[in-house]
Amino acid sequence: MITHEEDTITALATPSGEGAISIIRISGKNSFSSVDNIFKGKIKIAEAQSHTIHYGKIISSQNETIDDVLVSVFRNPNSFTGEDSVEISTHGSPLIIQKIISELLRYDVRLADPGEFTKRAFLNGKIDLAQAEAVADVINSRTEASLRGARNQLDGLLSQKVDSLREMLVNTSSLIELELDFAEEDVEFMSLEQIKKNIAEIIAEINELIKSYSFGRVIRDGVNVALVGKPNVGKSSLLNYILKESRAIVSEIPGTTRDIIREDVSIDGILYKLFDTAGIRLTEDVVEKEGVLRSREAVSKADIVLLINDAISDYDDILYNQIMGLTSEERIIKVTNKIDLNDNYNSDSDVKISALTGKGINELFKVLKEKAVGSKTYSEKNAIVTNQRHYNSLLKAKGHLENAETSISQKMTGEFNSVDLRNAETALGEIIGK
Ligand code: GDP
Repeated sequence: MITHEEDTITALATPSGEGAISIIRISGKNSFSSVDNIFKGKIKIAEAQSHTIHYGKIISSQNETIDDVLVSVFRNPNSFTGEDSVEISTHGSPLIIQKIISELLRYDVRLADPGEFTKRAFLNGKIDLAQAEAVADVINSRTEASLRGARNQLDGLLSQKVDSLREMLVNTSSLIELELDFAEEDVEFMSLEQIKKNIAEIIAEINELIKSYSFGRVIRDGVNVALVGKPNVGKSSLLNYILKESRAIVSEIPGTTRDIIREDVSIDGILYKLFDTAGIRLTEDVVEKEGVLRSREAVSKADIVLLINDAISDYDDILYNQIMGLTSEERIIKVTNKIDLNDNYNSDSDVKISALTGKGINELFKVLKEKAVGSKTYSEKNAIVTNQRHYNSLLKAKGHLENAETSISQKMTGEFNSVDLRNAETALGEIIGK
């Protein structure tokens, strides 16, 4: 009997809708024979060499020509899924695609489940779990930095790092277990000191990965930034200036209420989701209240709050205190606007700008970036954690290792240590799917 995993599957690999070309992917044992049933070219696909492309026509069971196509052939194990695979490039018409897929379904091929091609690549050992997750991240990347981070993971940097730590753990715990087996004979395979040193080293490496997550999360998901301040300090002007300056508007999300709008921009490779709020004022007006509620929510959820005042009016302590109740000091960047009108304005703001002339905006971008990702930079060669699941597994592994450290310093029996080490090993294994 053929299992679900052994079926031959097909799906449209490019976005649905009209386009210059579309690609239909087929993977599994019947890939070549099923395509040969509908494809008429110079040679049979079953006889074609791997990584070759063939021109021909797709002919329906009613003998009608559906389209002229290019067929790419990938023989196992040298394909994305590790199975025999075919990609049919067609003209990008939804009708053509539907017809070709229906024809394929007549020949022992079924529609793929969502993510099934990637799942097979994982099951066939072409990629590990972290890499499989990176496939989706690469596709969803909207900025340079997020793409680099996802590529980094797809290339296996995180997997290699985690795997080498796991290896070290396995070696250490096997020696401890061996020692237990020979407990009566009083031989020592690894000194307690060496075990402690190994564990400390692994914890230090895990800590590095854990630290990279605040950077990784930012490059993967972007940064929420709330612009707050009294009316007329220049919030909308600043927002507009940033949009014009960054030029890379990723998307525009029209305001859901009259009081708050969100714009996504990419500055220096990082995605910022800018929320322009109505200002947080206590109010009895019911319509206004709804807007204020949303503003408060935007501030509570913000990774960074741009607290804006201007150089020509008094500083608003009440507003400042309200903001402080919703977020924490280290998330706030204090901005003084309109310094073109009064550049002697004395305030303890972090950045002084003019949304009118653009003065100080580059400095604001610098401060924003530092707040968002910190001053530590990660190169393409560093393993970076961008995924919350991986982050949680690392925390778990670290917890088990710290338990092991404690029991060693309390000189508990080796059995305890080895259980903790095995648990840490499992937690690391979860990241790569071992
Ligand atoms: P918001 O209510 O905080 O969104 O403030 P607006 O962006 O609508 O700005 C209020 C007024 O201040 C407008 O007339 C802007 O043209 C003006 N304004 C904003 N920024 C500056 C600035 O840097 N310099 C000067 N001179 N005027 C500004």
